[in-house]
Amino acid sequence: MKALVKRGPGEGIDYTDVPAPEPGRHDVLVRVLRTGICGTDLHILKGTPWATRTVTAPRVIGHEFVGEIVAAGAGVGGLLPGQLVSAEGHVTCDTCANCRAGRQHLCDVVQGLGVQRDGAFAEYVAVPARSVWVHRPGVPLDVAAMFDAFGNAVHVADTFPVRDRTVLVTGAGPIGAMAAAVARHRGACLVAVSDVSPFRLDLAHRAGADLVIDAGEGTVDPAALGLEQGFDIGFEMSGNPSALSDLIGAMAHGGRIAALGLPDEDVPTDWADISLRMLTIQGISGRRVFDTWYAMADLLDQGMDPSFVITDHFPAEDYEKAFATAAEGHAGKVILDWVPRD
Ligand code: NAD
Ligand code: ZN
Repeated sequence: MKALVKRGPGEGIDYTDVPAPEPGRHDVLVRVLRTGICGTDLHILKGTPWATRTVTAPRVIGHEFVGEIVAAGAGVGGLLPGQLVSAEGHVTCDTCANCRAGRQHLCDVVQGLGVQRDGAFAEYVAVPARSVWVHRPGVPLDVAAMFDAFGNAVHVADTFPVRDRTVLVTGAGPIGAMAAAVARHRGACLVAVSDVSPFRLDLAHRAGADLVIDAGEGTVDPAALGLEQGFDIGFEMSGNPSALSDLIGAMAHGGRIAALGLPDEDVPTDWADISLRMLTIQGISGRRVFDTWYAMADLLDQGMDPSFVITDHFPAEDYEKAFATAAEGHAGKVILDWVPRD
């Protein structure tokens, strides 16, 4: 089968032929239809220090996908060929104390699909049956392809109640923009979104943000935005150290921050200020398994439509163009098609 493979340290990935995976006893084999390119995949393409440390090569990469089950191992019950599925990209151990207590999102021996086990940027992927999410009827394929990323956004947006609260989102990449849209949908009374890129500020508009702030023009000042006090809730979605400092500075006393962004430098932090204003900062990783997935499906049923973040799609063999488009910042979510579109 064709697949995108990371061969080893350094820059680059290959579009090449590899043997199709054999599903194990508790796995399903999925014929991949569409996949989403995530920041993680860009790190792997570039061969950043994180990727060199973390990816066990050679490795078929990619974790955002939708496909159709074509076969199931002998030990799999309840899943059938033809079902349209995605999978939780964090494959948990099921034996650690957190997993056994039903907190799989806190498993500390997690394996990443497309990172430490062969992933979905391929014509076929094998995944454990317990990681599979069966889509409800009517989900558009492009949206299903990025359920993993949508899940990051929903996990963040649902961490603290936002109804009738003011929310500041720093970073309007695909995930930040979707989180802003979910906060809007959940009844926040004000959703403000900051970014430094005009394209991404436009994405924030499309998310339904009430206020769009160019962070390049200085720190966010709640008073200048007409707020008596700072923001009630913050979502850090940029991974930029100065955005996190900005966000902390813009919070009301008692404000609560859900922090998804992954800075690769140290973040200078005034801890006395955080203590004295009694701020809460909750780190966020991945999705809650499967609470977040049910929440996503319910949001779609309620009419929320995250497809506004999808800006481009390419056939898989045009992966170089697709990755370049995703990397240059004039795009939202970029989709790779593993079978031709009708
Ligand atoms: P992205 O890189 O596409 O978006 C980040 C956005 O932040 C960009 O639009 C960028 O212009 C903007 N930005 C940069 N500096 C800023 C500043 N000072 N103020 C405001 N905005 C600024 O990323 P994404 O795919 O949307 O992911 C968002 C973040 O979440 C990234 O840091 C990513 O690494 C991280 N992430 C974390 C997890 C997790 O499980 N914790 C999962 C996926 C992604
Ligand atoms: Zn575990």
